[in-house]
Amino acid sequence: MKKIVMKFGGTSVATGENIRRVANIVADSVKKDYRVVVVVSALAGITNQLIEEAEQAKKKKEKQIQEFTKKLVEKHVATVTKAIEDKSIQKEVEQIIEKTVDELEKVLTGICYVGELTPKSRDYVLSFGERLSAPIVWGALRNLELQTQYFTGKEAGIVTDANFGEANPLMNVTTHQVKARIESLLEKKVIPVVTGYIAATQDGVVTTLGRGGSDYTATILSVALDADEVWIWTDVDGIMTADPKIVPSAKMLPELSYGEAAEMAIFGAKAMHPSALEPVIEAHIPVRIRNVFNPENPGTLIADGQEAKSTEVVKAVALIKDVAMINIRGAAMVGAPGSYSKVFDVLGKNNVNVMMVSTAVSEANISLVIRRSLLGRTLSTLEIALLGRGLVSEITSEDDVCVVAAMGANMKGTLGVASRIFTAMAQEGINIRMIAQGSSELNISFVVKEKDGEAAVRAIHKEFKLDQI
Ligand code: ASP
Ligand code: MG
Repeated sequence: MKKIVMKFGGTSVATGENIRRVANIVADSVKKDYRVVVVVSALAGITNQLIEEAEQAKKKKEKQIQEFTKKLVEKHVATVTKAIEDKSIQKEVEQIIEKTVDELEKVLTGICYVGELTPKSRDYVLSFGERLSAPIVWGALRNLELQTQYFTGKEAGIVTDANFGEANPLMNVTTHQVKARIESLLEKKVIPVVTGYIAATQDGVVTTLGRGGSDYTATILSVALDADEVWIWTDVDGIMTADPKIVPSAKMLPELSYGEAAEMAIFGAKAMHPSALEPVIEAHIPVRIRNVFNPENPGTLIADGQEAKSTEVVKAVALIKDVAMINIRGAAMVGAPGSYSKVFDVLGKNNVNVMMVSTAVSEANISLVIRRSLLGRTLSTLEIALLGRGLVSEITSEDDVCVVAAMGANMKGTLGVASRIFTAMAQEGINIRMIAQGSSELNISFVVKEKDGEAAVRAIHKEFKLDQI
């Protein structure tokens, strides 16, 4: 008897038709005598709409609220009608949706009157996407005569710190509570349907686990319930060697180590929430990425020591767009302890996330990569804080750049990987603006002009023969 936590992402539950597909996948697993826990994301696009509406409410756009909630009910009810045949179940789910949206309307109206959106109230608003999708999946499972019960992350027992927007699970309490609330259901073959992404503090205040956090919910539950595997159901066959839109011959990777997968998640391979692997790494629980639209495909397996089986040094190459590079120069930084910390302190205090850093042994300059949307604000903040104070003499930036990242666990200790990458760039006539290799040696990342990004990805894919993987 296998215990499997299955997470279904936004596109898997985007339409009533897709939700039926999801219900059938769950039913098939139950037939195989698997014990299944289902974790669901909000319907595709809903979380973004909630963010937008919360911002609007803050700006006192009261009239808009009802328009929005009306549309939200319509969208979800239309999904119910397609996902569930049985009229009485339909009705029951519709009532839950209406009641939940009523609550949302009150919350948005509150934000509107106060004219303030705190990280706490924002998380509360964001929790509604999953609170609306989970009951539909629950209804679709009942429609197939499966025994099921639905929970919010909070009801399931997931407890986090109060870092709203990006909360971290407190695993000891969580494990204890999840076991107490969910385990006996599994023994009775009841399928728990849990909202992804949302949890609560120890005082019961709603938190979210960061964008894409439903993956995290799934891995947290898998550890708490000591599951055999986590299956992340999405709309692609698995993790690819490159974006197939850039490299048409890109291949699916059958196996990856946790380290490689984490590296790819961080580099936006879109496969997983970057923190989601942390709990399963310690617990050694394998994760599979699978395609709801192609369930026969085994997908990508992420587990211990997979890298040992393969000999490829580079396994995947990613392109990260919408970034900008900042160069900070100053001869006075040389040999001056604490000078870097001043730069990073300014960035940290102003909530600017640094994606990549590179400095030379000459110490006279630091290059940073940040999200492009933050460039204007970051530059002025740095200029005000650092220029004319004797340390930094010049701050320049480039906003027409992108990051190319080549990844693979076998790079570690293999000679000549960097030289092959950079020779490939030279042959394409691509100029490299900045380089960084983490000491994990799991990836080499570098910055090129945006116009060269796709060619750089294709050249690396070709050099390491990733289409033959
Ligand atoms: N609905 C949330 C988001 O869009 C969480 C998730 O989809 O995993 O970020
Ligand atoms: Mg989503």
